[in-house]
Amino acid sequence: MTIPLTDITPLTWQVTTNPAPLPAAERAAVLADPGFGQYFTDHMVDICWSAKGGWHRPRVSPYGPIQLEPSAAVLHYAQEVFEGLKAYRHADGSIHTFRPDANARRMARSAHRLALPELPTDYFIEAIKQLIALDGDWVPDTPETSLYLRPFMFAKEAFLGVRPANKVAFYLIASPAGAYFKGGVAPVSIWLSEDYSRAGIGGTGAAKTGGNYASSLLPQAEAYEHGCAQVLFLDSAEGKYLEELGGMNVVLVYSDGTLVTPASDSILEGVTLDSILQLARDRGHRVEQRPVSLDEWKAGEASGDIVEVFACGTAAVVTPIAQLKSRDFSIGSADAPAGELTMLLRQELTDIQYGRTEDRHGWLTRLDA
Ligand SMILES: *Cc1c(COP(=O)(O)O)cnc(C)c1O
Repeated sequence: MTIPLTDITPLTWQVTTNPAPLPAAERAAVLADPGFGQYFTDHMVDICWSAKGGWHRPRVSPYGPIQLEPSAAVLHYAQEVFEGLKAYRHADGSIHTFRPDANARRMARSAHRLALPELPTDYFIEAIKQLIALDGDWVPDTPETSLYLRPFMFAKEAFLGVRPANKVAFYLIASPAGAYFKGGVAPVSIWLSEDYSRAGIGGTGAAKTGGNYASSLLPQAEAYEHGCAQVLFLDSAEGKYLEELGGMNVVLVYSDGTLVTPASDSILEGVTLDSILQLARDRGHRVEQRPVSLDEWKAGEASGDIVEVFACGTAAVVTPIAQLKSRDFSIGSADAPAGELTMLLRQELTDIQYGRTEDRHGWLTRLDA
């Protein structure tokens, strides 16, 4: 089922341009206030996979509805994985993306867990370049905006039997994204999910798959009811250790400058987290990836040993956490300001992504050349 990542045949792309792309003036209006995930570019990519033929028929075509049989396996058994990364416009007009190889490898790991075929890294990056070749004008150029890239893969075989599908589709769509924090970065309150967990031991927590998100929606709704922006999940075995938010990893900063982030097999390995931790190490900070209990956070907050907490992920980059709320207690206070190191690391990472500072780790891939 796995196609080796070396020795892959180059793809021959079929390209069909959209006969009715959004007129430039209308596109400009969208890019002036894109929000998130509401508008889509003029084209999309798809690549077929079958058990017999492997990856084949890569194409770029006008963005539009997908035809699926009602019996398509994904609609019943959720055999699906996805990714999320961004294309950034630099001051000289060029277009870059950030660590796409890391997203490609993660998608392959997620696919493996969901018994889906692994898309070779080269195909993943080529798919992005093909889409940008036609839709590059959709990458906005105002500060903190980007074109969000959404690769996804699902079981399309028309079959209700329960087994890995023999027919799979990979797609890539793109959606312009505005600045996540419009009025400047604002610390958020998060809600502790005590009744629900996100993932269990041996489950799919480390895979980027829709099912994890489906199970987070009810606790997420509970968070909104309590005036919180996000949910924090604990480990499902003991309900003692921090895992992550619904779609972001979490980091605690100690007063001696140490950054601590939870380690567990059921946490999704964020590319943003990995990058932030690297930037912190570069600055001489100690970084620990180990189990972190809720009690440790409580005690650290009370003693003043924990001085900053933040969440990170591609969409919001870095979000300062002001407080954790739950039914019985809270940690921190809603009006706590954003942490100094939190904001520094956020600035440094976005400076690299937008080409405002040297890309010393070679994290950027140019897409428009
Ligand atoms: C995508 C995702 C993250 C963040 O990963 P990034 O690569 O930094 O965007 C964290 N947690 C979950 C559950 C996710 O799906």
